[in-house]
Amino acid sequence: MDSRGSKLNGVIKMPKNPFACSECHMILADGIDQCSHHPAAPVSSDWTGYVVVLDPSRSEIANRLNIEVPGNYALKVNIR
Ligand SMILES: [Zn+2]
Repeated sequence: MDSRGSKLNGVIKMPKNPFACSECHMILADGIDQCSHHPAAPVSSDWTGYVVVLDPSRSEIANRLNIEVPGNYALKVNIR
C-alpha cells in the first residue's frame, strides 16, 4: 500500500468562523473582512447565534436587531 497515493483528506478541520459586522451583525462571506454597508465598523470572528433572516419585515428577531436586509446574521458579536 502506498500511503502517498491514497489521499483521502480524512481529517476535516473545523472551518474558522467567518467575520461578522459589529454594526449590523451580518455574517460576512468567506474571506471578507469588511462589511459592505459599514466599512468603518469593526468586524469580529468571535460571535454567537446564527440567524438566517429571509423576510426582515416579518421577523421578530430582525426587528429586534434592526435588520432590514435579508441575510445571515449573528445574534451577538464580541469585539475584542
Ligand atoms: Zn454592517
